Formats: sequence, structure tokens, C-alpha cells
Amino acid sequence: MHRAMRLLLSATLPALLVQANADQQPLTQPAAVPAIQRITKDAWAALNNSVDGRLHTNVPFAAACFASFEGQEHHTNSEECLSVRKHYTDAKIRTSNPAAFISTQWETCQNTQKACLLDQHDPSSTLPTSDGRVCSVGSISEYYIDVRSAKDVQAAFSFSKTTGVPLVIKNTGHDYKGRSSAPHSLSLWTHNLKGIEYEPNFIPTCPSSSTKQIKPVTAVTLEAGVLWDEVYTGVAVEYNLTVVGGADRTVGTTGGWLQGGGHSALSNTLGLGADRVLEFTVVTPDGELRIANQCQNKDLFFALRGGGGGTFGVVLSATHLASPKMNIDAVLILFPLHFPMPAGFDDSVDASDELALTRSLFKLILDNSVQWAEHGWGAYINANSALYLTPALNSTSAPESMKPLLDWGKKLEKAVDESHRKDIIVLSGDYPSWTSIFSVFADGYAAGIGEPLALSSRLIPTSVVNDTSTREGLLDALIDAERTSPGIRLLKVSPFNYKSSTEDPEDPYSASSVHPAWRSTIFHATAANLWNWNSTAAEIQEYYKTVHRAMEGVRKVAGHAAYLNEADVYEENWQEAFFGSNYDKLLAIKNKYDPNHLLDCWQCVGWNRDSPRYSCYLDAFKVPSNSRSQRVVEVERWSDELLRILL
Ligand SMILES: Cc1cc2nc3c(=O)[nH]c(=O)nc-3n(C[C@H](O)[C@H](O)[C@H](O)COP(=O)(O)OP(=O)(O)OC[C@H]3O[C@@H](n4cnc5c(N)ncnc54)[C@H](O)[C@@H]3O)c2cc1C
Repeated sequence: MHRAMRLLLSATLPALLVQANADQQPLTQPAAVPAIQRITKDAWAALNNSVDGRLHTNVPFAAACFASFEGQEHHTNSEECLSVRKHYTDAKIRTSNPAAFISTQWETCQNTQKACLLDQHDPSSTLPTSDGRVCSVGSISEYYIDVRSAKDVQAAFSFSKTTGVPLVIKNTGHDYKGRSSAPHSLSLWTHNLKGIEYEPNFIPTCPSSSTKQIKPVTAVTLEAGVLWDEVYTGVAVEYNLTVVGGADRTVGTTGGWLQGGGHSALSNTLGLGADRVLEFTVVTPDGELRIANQCQNKDLFFALRGGGGGTFGVVLSATHLASPKMNIDAVLILFPLHFPMPAGFDDSVDASDELALTRSLFKLILDNSVQWAEHGWGAYINANSALYLTPALNSTSAPESMKPLLDWGKKLEKAVDESHRKDIIVLSGDYPSWTSIFSVFADGYAAGIGEPLALSSRLIPTSVVNDTSTREGLLDALIDAERTSPGIRLLKVSPFNYKSSTEDPEDPYSASSVHPAWRSTIFHATAANLWNWNSTAAEIQEYYKTVHRAMEGVRKVAGHAAYLNEADVYEENWQEAFFGSNYDKLLAIKNKYDPNHLLDCWQCVGWNRDSPRYSCYLDAFKVPSNSRSQRVVEVERWSDELLRILL
């Protein structure tokens, strides 16, 4: 910069900022110009050229419904806007859009309240799009590459290394912790990597000397953009397979789900997703295209099996072990939430409490939890329902095993008066495959699509339910959590009966890198909290705090481990909570493959909290950074503009 200009700038900018900020703390430094704003047109064109024209600017999902976005005028009643309003809470549409996310706070800048949201309860409402409200890109990546090959990823890493523009990997946008969006970033959108290959005799790619000892297995190789629904209703049906995957149609098979652990109702007997993956094809941040499996890049293979997505490289595909199609037995109990407990139904519970039936159900579930886990049952349990699934029993032994729960449901049916009997559902059935039962429950299980949502969670050790006093403490804590932040879930998805056949105590990388606590876990418990499209930053902080507080009692009983994919955004001691004793090993692998830290995400291995990519996260447990006036924020933006012109 010319010296005279630098002097002019240093003399005028602080004066401008101090003047605008007279009623606030004086700001001494202008905000740094985001690297992305310093990129020249030629540099963007060169990047676009190297990815065969698949570099695009990102437009917020609901932009068409606002009068303007980035200076571009819109007709707010256009076909495009009507379609957005119609599909606003449609998970499939959201996951196919590079700028849409399942939990919508990750589309917004929570700190500055810049957003482009509709009212999730009534997407046809024009309130969010009128009264001069403008649509802002919020925390969505400003640019994205529609990734189709390793070459695209290599170009992005090289671009980020030379320019400093932060990278983000976005697959479905299901992440609960905002790890697939960041302001002023370039996104690698993997959605269109849709290849699915059936591998009847899969052998990992190894040097020929070691291949001889490896027995071929049945597997499926899934590219990074494949969703679970596409597997369950496609290759699994075509080849009579069971592939262990998520309980939601639109969660990705090979991105964050798999790399963070990946639980399923079948994990009890078949293991976590990370236990079953046989090979990854991945581009590491040094630009290398690598195969990671049990005989090459073993450290990376270890890290990708539980060390978290968005950290060690961009996975292009993964090969998952496939089991033969199997019968699944199911038991479902469902009753209306806060349904009054009939007199004399359960004398151990205070019948006047609105959560009396929940307590009675949870008590039964905790008392029987070890026995049912030993019988192979996985489960999704809410305050007013319990769905149990097992591939390990048959149509005779399954209802026998679940007799206490079925009896509880039948007793409830009898105890309620005739007019309410239809509200109580007690079912037991035998299904010919995972796909057939999945299509029955999947749509009922999905929740919180297209709305802001926060979780807090804990892995509950089996030892807690084995001991009468800690079991009672856990029951109290779960009921407290439901009272504080309604939406408690108990997921019986741990690999309780699963034994790995490849783990070798002599080999530090033979196991998967999920938190070791998963191996002694009986439940994964989550609390949730939701808020509105127009909640203020101060209100949102309270929602995060409430869900965190809701789990206080559970944390005390359960200890310190949590599932990193479904967790509190403000987890304390996150290294220990998400990675346990694996953290140091994972950090060494991170530093080896990503020495320049081109990949970074919230509370991921090697996390750099000071990076500007986190400027939209609220400091929920500190003073909100948006306590400054909107006017100052505008001046900061303006000074960024000024710097851009002058530099
Ligand atoms: C409705 C719903 C249901 C869910 N059900 C389950 C369930 O049954 N079991 C379970 O275990 N979890 C479940 N989850 C949690 C889920 O595992 C996480 O949200 C996970 O992060 C989703 O991964 P994704 O790739 O689909 O999403 P994204 O948000 O796109 O990505 C998540 C993270 O993975 C990274 N990532 C994505 N793709 C790649 C890639 N190719 N290479 C490297 N990093 C990548 C991203 O950068 C980000 O850090 C559920 C979540 C929701 C919202």
C-alpha cells in the first residue's frame, strides 16, 4: 500500500470507529478483511477453470422470498419462492441444496443476527420477508465447488493454502454443531458424488504379499454424497443385504456420520459404522489422493473411523461391510405425551405428576436394560414412546424377551377409559428386512428439520444401570432433563454385543478411533431445545444454556463421555468428552496430514477456537459479542470495504 494512503487510513479509521462507537467500548482495531474478499476476479476464474466450471456463488435457500439479496431484486411471489415455502421443512430438498442446513441456525450468523430464514412453523408467512428485512448469506460459505473428483479437492486445498480462504466440507448439512458451514469460506459440496458399488468379494487394496491372508467379504462402496435412504431402498434390496446405517433417510452414509462413529439400532450386534468400514479413498490436505485401510495409511484409517468428519481429509468414498438380509423383530409402545396416569397403574410413581407415565416407562426400561441389551435389542425411546428392534431373536423369542414392556403397554390399554384406548399403541411384529422396518418408522423418527435446534448428550455406562442407587439417580436425572427441556431421548445404539474380529492389541491402529467409552455404554441420552426464526441472540443463548443445564443431573451420574455427532455445542473438556484417551494419538495424525491446518471445525481434533471461521458462534457461556450496537457492526463492514479498496 502507498505510504500516504496508509497514513491517511491510520488517521481516519480509528476516528470513524470511535465516533460511531461513542456509547460503547471504543474499538481500537478495524475488523480484519476476510481473505475471501481479497481474491481477485482472475484468481476466482483460475480456480473455476481448474474445477471444470463447477465453482459457484452460494445463495441462501430462502433468498427468492426476499425482495433483494446482495443487491439483486426478486419477485417475492415467484415460482421459486413458492417452492421454497412449500419445501421449507423437507429434509430431502434441504440436503440437496448447497446452502441449506437441517438445523437452520448454521445458516445464520448468530452473533450479528444476519440471516435469511422463514418461519418454520408457517413457511407461508410473509412476516420474515417483509418490513424491510433483508436476506443475508449469514454463516453460509460464500462460494462452493460442486465436487466430482479428487482433482476438484486438490484444487481447493491448493487455493486455500495460497490464499488463506477457509475451507468447509458440506455433505447433507445435518450437523448439529455447525461443522459444515462457516462465514467467508469456500465449501466443498460432496452431494453429487453418488456412486454405489456392490462388492460381493471385497478385499482391501493391499500389497500383493498381504492380500493372500485377507478373506474376501461382501461390501458396498459408497461415494461421499450417498444418503442412507438410497442404500436401504437401493443396493440393500437389490442384493438382499443389511448395511448398518443411520435412523434417518437423509443422513449421509460416508461423511460426518461414519467418520464420527455412526450409530444404528443394529449396532448392538453389528457394531458402529466406524467398526464396519473397510477402506476409504480420501484426499488429504497435503493434496495427496490416498487409500486408507488395514494395510496402507493405517494411522489415517484409524483416524477416519471415529475421529470426526471435516478434520483429516475429504473422503471421496468408503467401503462398508454388508451382512446378509436379516429378519428384524420390533416392539413399539406409544401413548400421548403428558397422558395422565390411570389410578392404581403404578404405585411406585406419583400419579399426579404430568410425567408419571414417562417415569413409569423409563423405570421399566432402565430395570430391564442390561437383559434386553444382552438379547440384542437396540431402541429409540422418547418421553412417550419406545421402539425396540433386534436382528438376534425370532417371532417367538422376541415377544418373550420383551414381555415386561408388552405387559406394561397392555396394562395401560386396559387401564384407560374406552374413549382413550385408541391413543395407546402396543405393537409387536416380525419384519423381513431392515429396509422394511425402516420405512415404517423413519418418517416418525425425523424431527427438527428446517428449524434451529440444540442438543446436549451423554453416553451412559452400563455400570450405572447395574447399580440400584445410580440407576435411580439416572431415572431422576432423565425426568429432570425432560422437565427442563422437553425432548429427552434414550438411544440404545451402542455396540453392546459387538466383538471386532480384526482388533489386535499389538497394533495401535487396528481398532476404530471412536471414544473407548462406547464399548461400555448402554444408552446414548440426548436432550434437545428448539427456538424461533426470529429469536434474539440473547434468547438463543438462553436456549443453549437451558439444554446444557437440562443434562446437568445426567452428566453427574454418567460421567464425561459424549457422542461427538449429537452433542452439546458448548461441551466443556470437549477433547476428553468426545475422544477420551484417543485424543493425543488423533492430534498427532491431524498434524501429520494437515500441518497447515487447512481443515478446522468446532471442537474437532486440533480445533483453533480463535479462527475467524467461528465468528458467528455465540459465546453462550460468556457475555454476548453482539451486545455492541448494530451501527458499529455496519461501520466495521464499511471499513472492511474501505480497506479492500485501498489495499
Ligand atoms: C435428523 C437427524 C438424524 C440423525 N440420525 C443419526 C443416527 O441415526 N445415527 C448417528 O450416528 N447420527 C445421526 N445423526 C447425526 C449425524 O451423524 C451427524 O449430523 C453427522 O455429522 C451428519 O453427517 P453428514 O455428512 O450427513 O452431514 P454434514 O453436516 O454435511 O457434515 C457433517 C460433518 O462431516 C464433515 N464431512 C461431510 N462429508 C465429509 C467428507 N466426505 N469427508 C470429510 N468430512 C466430511 C463435514 O465437514 C462436517 O464436519 C442424525 C442427525 C440428524 C439431523
